[in-house]
Amino acid sequence: MITLKSFEPGGFDQFGLHESILRGIAALGFESPRPIQTETIPAGLERRDIMGLAQTGTGKTAAFALPLLDRLVRNRGFGPRILILAPTRELATQIAAEIHSLAKYTHLKMVTIYGGVSAFNQVRALRDHPEIVVGCPGRVLDLLQQKKLLLDKVETLVLDEADHMFDMGFLPDIRKIMSALPDHRQNLLFSATMPGEIRSLANKILKNPHVVELADAAPAATIDHALVMVAERRKRDLLEHFLQGKDCESAIVFTRTKHRARRLADQLVKAGHKAVGIQGNLSQSRRDQAMRGFRSRRFNVLVATDIVARGIDVSGVSHVINFDVPNTPEAYTHRIGRTGRAEMEGIACTFVTGQDHKWLRATERMIGSPIHRQEVSGFVADGNISSGPPQRGRQTPRQGTPRSEQAVGQQPISRSHPSNRRRRRRRTG
Ligand code: AMP
Repeated sequence: MITLKSFEPGGFDQFGLHESILRGIAALGFESPRPIQTETIPAGLERRDIMGLAQTGTGKTAAFALPLLDRLVRNRGFGPRILILAPTRELATQIAAEIHSLAKYTHLKMVTIYGGVSAFNQVRALRDHPEIVVGCPGRVLDLLQQKKLLLDKVETLVLDEADHMFDMGFLPDIRKIMSALPDHRQNLLFSATMPGEIRSLANKILKNPHVVELADAAPAATIDHALVMVAERRKRDLLEHFLQGKDCESAIVFTRTKHRARRLADQLVKAGHKAVGIQGNLSQSRRDQAMRGFRSRRFNVLVATDIVARGIDVSGVSHVINFDVPNTPEAYTHRIGRTGRAEMEGIACTFVTGQDHKWLRATERMIGSPIHRQEVSGFVADGNISSGPPQRGRQTPRQGTPRSEQAVGQQPISRSHPSNRRRRRRRTG
């Protein structure tokens, strides 16, 4: 198993990628490969199976796409030759957008397939034998069963965010889709966590995989993250305090339920914010509209729930605010990873009430360090949780986290002291 540590950046030319692809990379402004790309691209070019323990935001899409594009360009032929499955429409769209940019100079064709919209254009695009299909399992299976999508030429299957596909109940669909693929193929599986079901899926489909593990149980070094202890009834006021802050340019606010997301978005609009809510009950076109509005800065506050937030990649999000704590410790790193993207700085703040004690302990154990408690004057904890700095108890960083990263994770973080941020970034490399 390879665990990634800091690396000396070399250029993308080290991989021997086709010139048309190098042009796409340059047009995107990528100067040097990310660690996951350095580790994944050579194995992808050798057509090895790959298991990547990494989440969205690490540069994973280019890591798996570049070697696949290289093969498609050097050896042309009718598709679909690459099938990429992702759990949500947002993630599928985002993957397709990235591949579209990387493949800008290659004349390759791609179609994105997901439910919630008419299948008409998707079916029409499939008649052109696109080399690449990016889709969500439900609609892919529908079109496969209707024989509008043929998968007998697929050379590589990519399962992205496999753990989320499992959470969303897609494993049975994925198994049916896999049974329509040629047995002899390359398989790439990416997942931020490894629940038992994903591990057994990986064991079943991956042959002698090249394993790449990003030590990202801890949040990215570019994210300043803290907790504020607050009583449930004061959360709205506390949110207002953050949104009014001078440095708050755009924020994603996470709530626990769809209902809370909708209500909070309405309240924020009434209070004069340019806010929009995005949650599972919205139609696809309303969700797209909301995302477009947030990307273009027509809205600067996006209120979201976990499910729809997966895969959201908007650069320049200055704040992530966990209005409600996430359901799982893993979701914490995932949510706050919506800021601090592409190595820019971001601030994340989690509102913690007396009910959230268990979650807090589990999360601090997972990331291997206490999360800084921020005091905001006028706001006090509602009882059970101490508002002082946490005790440094026994910490059990996740398996696979390199020693150097563990040491960094254990540094207490001061949000108020810029020198602290600089030090932290240097040490994590
Ligand atoms: P992903 O993990 O694929 O969602 O990528 C996260 C973000 O990083 C996307 O906006 C990518 O365009 C960007 N990105 C990926 N690789 C690089 C790179 N080598 N240099 C700069 N940005 C990158």
